[in-house]
Order: sequence, then structure tokens, then C-alpha cells
Amino acid sequence: MAKLATHIIKNHRKYLRNFYWRHRPNPYKMMVAEFMLQRTKAEQVEPVYKKFLKQYPTVYNLAKAKSKSVAKYTNSLGLHCRYKKFLDAAKYIVDELKGEFPKTQKEMLKIPGVGDYVAGAVLAVCSNNADYVIDSNIARFINRYYGLGLKGEIRRKKIIIEKAKKLFKTDNQKDLLFALLDYTALVCKPIKPDCDKCIFNKCKTNCK
Ligand code: SF4
Repeated sequence: MAKLATHIIKNHRKYLRNFYWRHRPNPYKMMVAEFMLQRTKAEQVEPVYKKFLKQYPTVYNLAKAKSKSVAKYTNSLGLHCRYKKFLDAAKYIVDELKGEFPKTQKEMLKIPGVGDYVAGAVLAVCSNNADYVIDSNIARFINRYYGLGLKGEIRRKKIIIEKAKKLFKTDNQKDLLFALLDYTALVCKPIKPDCDKCIFNKCKTNCK
């Protein structure tokens, strides 16, 4: 599986997307980016994200923020009522963790509003310490690559999680995650994957 991760990372330059938050691997900034990206396209998030960080550069600033002023940002992304999630997470990190982000996925999951994907992504990017990272796109890629033929809500399936855990056993989780996100957005897309541009010869769905 280490070979698969290395192959994915090595080919990343062919389909690389460049987002502002990728150059700032700091757990607070990653968490904010991932919260914003949960329902909104990356291109739409970028300008709002920059302004948000200007106003709340640290988790301490966000923990003291007024609901109304955070809601201004979340509403502009169509994330109505999500301001609470930003505030609850920041308050928990400041009050319960003295401003320090946890170093394990299990502890990350105790932060209000932080689910499996955000926990894994923050740890993968900021400390190379994720157990695994799965969103619907990564799950789809694993399902196709291994020819598992799973249907429905596949990212919670045991076999997908097992494969993702093995895939993320690499000392470069950050680059692997960004490469996977770009690959699944641009090539191994949900509908009509661009299999002619595929970088794998071993995809078991035999789309080529
Ligand atoms: S052959 Fe097609 S389905 Fe398989 S990994 Fe490549 S792009 Fe995805």
C-alpha cells in the first residue's frame, strides 16, 4: 500500500489544484478550512476564508467572537446556523484543551462539530498522525480501484476504512491527501471518470 501512496503522490503534479489553505498547515486554520468546505465548493470558500482568518487569526480570537459576526461568514457560504459549530469547537479547544489541538484522531473527535473526515484531515496535514482520512471521494476511489462494487453510503463500510488505514500508512499524509482530493475531483470523478487519463494500470473496475 505504501507503493500506491507513493505513486499517487508522485503523479500529483499532473492534476494539482492550488488552494490558499494548503500552504498554511496549522490545525486551527485547517479545521476552519474543512468546516467551510463541507458543503461549499473550494473556489467559493477561498475569498471568505481569507477574510475570516484576517478577523479571527487564532482559535483564541474565534472563541471570543460574537455569534452574529461569525454567522455573517457562514451565511455567505450557505452554511446557515453553522456559526455555532465554529464557536463551539473554538471554545472547547480554548477552555478544555488550553488552546492545544489533540494529537490523535480519537481525541480530535471529542471537539464539538468535528467528525471523522475533519479529524483525519487536520491530523494528516498538520502532524502526519491520522489513522486514516475518508470522504465520499476517497471512498469512491478505493471502491473503484479495488473493484469492491459497494453501493450506498460506502465511506462507513469496514473494508473501505481498512483500505484507507493501510493507504495512509505513509510518512507523507499531507501530500497524499491533497493528491487524492485533486485526483478524485478531476480524474476519478463521481460521474464519467476520465479513465483515459488514469495514472493506474491496476484499477479493478477495468474502466480503461
Ligand atoms: S481507471 Fe477510472 S475508475 Fe479506475 S481509478 Fe482510474 S479513473 Fe478511477
